[in-house]
Amino acid sequence: MTLTILMAAGPGNWERYRDPLMAALATAGVAADLVQEAAPESVDYIVYAPSAALQDFTPYTRCKAVLSLWAGVERIVGNATLTQPLCRMVDPALTMGMVEWVLGHALRHHLGLDAYIVNPNRIWNPDCPPLARDRKVAMLGTGALGEASARALQSLQFHVEGWSRSPKSLPGLVTHHGRDGLKAALRGADIVVTLLPRTPETENTLNAETLGWMKPGAVILNPGRGALIDDEALLAALDSGQIGHATLDVFRVEPLPRDHPFWAHPRVTVTPHIAADTRPDTSAEVIAENIRRGEASEPFINLVDRKRGY
Ligand code: NAP
Repeated sequence: MTLTILMAAGPGNWERYRDPLMAALATAGVAADLVQEAAPESVDYIVYAPSAALQDFTPYTRCKAVLSLWAGVERIVGNATLTQPLCRMVDPALTMGMVEWVLGHALRHHLGLDAYIVNPNRIWNPDCPPLARDRKVAMLGTGALGEASARALQSLQFHVEGWSRSPKSLPGLVTHHGRDGLKAALRGADIVVTLLPRTPETENTLNAETLGWMKPGAVILNPGRGALIDDEALLAALDSGQIGHATLDVFRVEPLPRDHPFWAHPRVTVTPHIAADTRPDTSAEVIAENIRRGEASEPFINLVDRKRGY
């Protein structure tokens, strides 16, 4: 039987994904028509990105799963018309991109590179930075992206402690969980990385109180979601010196409005939501594998828990 797979992923994605998806489906042994338009009742699977016009899933009565191109699903998980299983994206190349972004920005601050790259006063200061093993990194979120980033930092001997919602045992990694565990994870941290999903529980995880638990002068790297941080509290902590620098990739409103104080703040670095992109070749294989599973009545991978919200 030839399946009908609807690509509802907004402008631009059809050209990027059509050929890799068709190739991956063929390799997975799935016979399918990949289309941009179809009668809703004829659609077997939907490949989805939130920029799509499609917001009402009610007429897609035959659809067995909605397969997100995005790792973060906060813009679709609460859609009451979506009753089909929802799978988020866990793409090995997206993970590599995130690891590179986290490592690059952590090393910038660890080594104090700005003092040499931007040194308008030509100051000769021969103080060496400490070794990575003398820096504590709190990794808030130890899922697909948080654990991979933690492992990469550990390979340079940073002292990494992770924080998650549920108790986790990750070999060689100190882990904390739940509200009580947050203080232990943040206490004395030099660098804090936020790789949590946006849910009602994670909103303002970093706020006036929790920012005060880090080491004075600590650095924040936020490639997770803007809402994880209370913007006003962060600006106040930057101005008081409690936070030394914040490197932010994600914001409550994107693109970040031109008049937002983050743009002008001397100790904020803005990157425009480029930390980690889904890559067509590798993500196509993940999508094809999930469709193969659906057809073989095997459990889907990367299934979103609608109650947890991620
Ligand atoms: P994931 O595998 O679902 O991991 C999420 C982690 O967050 C898990 O460790 C989870 O705990 C933890 N968590 C969730 N709610 C929590 C809570 N209330 N308290 C404490 N910990 C909590 O997600 P992922 O693939 O690593 O992605 C993380 C996020 O990165 C995405 O949701 C997305 O927002 C963001 N992202 C950004 C970009 C970018 O370019 N900037 C790209 C991709 C993704 P458990 O382990 O207990 O479940």
